[in-house]
Amino acid sequence: MSTAELPIHHEVSRFLASPRKMLIGNRWVDAVSGKTFPVYNPATGEEIARVAEGDAKDADLAVKAARKAFEGGAWRDMTAAERGRIMWRLSDLIEKNADELAQIESLDNGKPVAIARAADVALVIDMFRYMAGWTTKIEGNTIPLSVPYAPGAKFFAYTEREPVGVVAQIIPWNFPLLMAAWKLGPALAMGCTVVLKPAEQTPLSALRLGELILEAGFPEGVVNIVPGFGAAGAALAAHPDVDKVAFTGSTEVGKEVLKAAGGNLKKVSLELGGKSPNVVFRDADMEAAIDGAASAIFFNHGQCCCAGSRLYVEKDIFDDVVAGVSDRAKKIKIGPGLDPTTSMGPLVSQEQLDRVCGYLESGFAEGARAVAGGKRSGDRGYFVEPTVLVDAPRNAKVVQEEIFGPVVTAMPFKDMDDLIPQANDSMYGLAAGIWTRDVSKAHQVASHLRAGTVWINCYNIFDAGLPFGGYKQSGWGREMGHDALDLYTQKKSVCIKL
Ligand code: NAD
Repeated sequence: MSTAELPIHHEVSRFLASPRKMLIGNRWVDAVSGKTFPVYNPATGEEIARVAEGDAKDADLAVKAARKAFEGGAWRDMTAAERGRIMWRLSDLIEKNADELAQIESLDNGKPVAIARAADVALVIDMFRYMAGWTTKIEGNTIPLSVPYAPGAKFFAYTEREPVGVVAQIIPWNFPLLMAAWKLGPALAMGCTVVLKPAEQTPLSALRLGELILEAGFPEGVVNIVPGFGAAGAALAAHPDVDKVAFTGSTEVGKEVLKAAGGNLKKVSLELGGKSPNVVFRDADMEAAIDGAASAIFFNHGQCCCAGSRLYVEKDIFDDVVAGVSDRAKKIKIGPGLDPTTSMGPLVSQEQLDRVCGYLESGFAEGARAVAGGKRSGDRGYFVEPTVLVDAPRNAKVVQEEIFGPVVTAMPFKDMDDLIPQANDSMYGLAAGIWTRDVSKAHQVASHLRAGTVWINCYNIFDAGLPFGGYKQSGWGREMGHDALDLYTQKKSVCIKL
């Protein structure tokens, strides 16, 4: 493992030097309890910062601030163009501070800094710009009425799209800043006010974003950020004065959020886990398919909800594809995210390291064999070898459950009739990949796969305009694109007798 790490940006040092507070009503405040929690560098396991630990009391204060801001109207009644300008200003500020944000993300999450800059931060900038453009295009309809019990009467009827109100947004650690942007972008464009709860493992980039939000000129209380553990999220999900909760995380916690939201029947959207099939046919461009299959699972160390973790390969090319992906896996350079030569960093936490290693052991116990990797890498930090498993039975845990690490299970298939039931044999339905030169086959398979996104001859392609979300237990609703605005909209029908 190389230790040729980049020097820490002076702004990052400033940011990490003092305990980070939470953002409530445009002020940085300590937790009511006075508690803080440690944040670790996953490459070393060392503490890099301390952060105010929000709980139910802080969540309540943040909801009150968001409610006051919503009812006061400073945000939703602002002209749409001005709302868009403030959001655009935020994206400019993110762009100006992009290198520093990428370093914070890399230090906190473990991902390679170059990827954090080129993918995460770049997509965040695009997301806020895309959503800034929507503020001026939120329109209703006029509806011609033909009311059967009011013969001869004339009506003028129209719909309006209004912000849903105070929104709680709970996000995970795998793309900390990007998940914040996916959530904040559409909610703010619609005129909602927000309480954001970043993941306890990775609260730093959201808190730095909070500083930029203040600099951009958002009115008081429009965005509130409460770092903390599950208890803070649970308090927000159950809060009677929250109108909507948007959650990204595990399917297990998603179900808890749904139950908690039932108290006041708040609106719910969920982006949950996945176990996505990635399918390689014998007529595919082999080099592209092998590169694609490797990056589908190893990108972000496999900590992607849409990771291509089940690799289905047509029988007669199975050995070649497995050998190719294994070869790519063995060449991946593991190291700290801040080392510019690193292509794969550590997992985010000791808990994830234990979880992924536990899955590897269970896979071996159920008959799987590692063609590449198969264990922890080194004894410091939370590194795992990029792993390719074969021979796992169809009902093995490593085939059915989300591992959320750099572990792919490869399985052969005979033909389309053999493939489709296997590919759909999952409680999840988030994404899928297809590699073939046959356009007709690609479309047929895409239409049979029960997944919210299907990538053909590519994988992990994201754009602020392209909706993303899950079938089955992978979630409710779609983020990104104009669909994301619907998650934060109430539709009002207005009917006037003329
Ligand atoms: P997690 O569900 O444990 O935690 C996610 C967030 O929920 C964290 O902020 C956590 O503090 C909070 N939380 C925990 N308990 C809670 C409760 N009872 N009520 C409310 N909030 C609570 O998930 P994780 O381990 O942080 O993230 C990994 C999971 O997220 C994976 O399953 C992955 O597939 C999923 N994920 C999905 C998407 C998507 O877009 N579909 C994106 C990223 C991650």
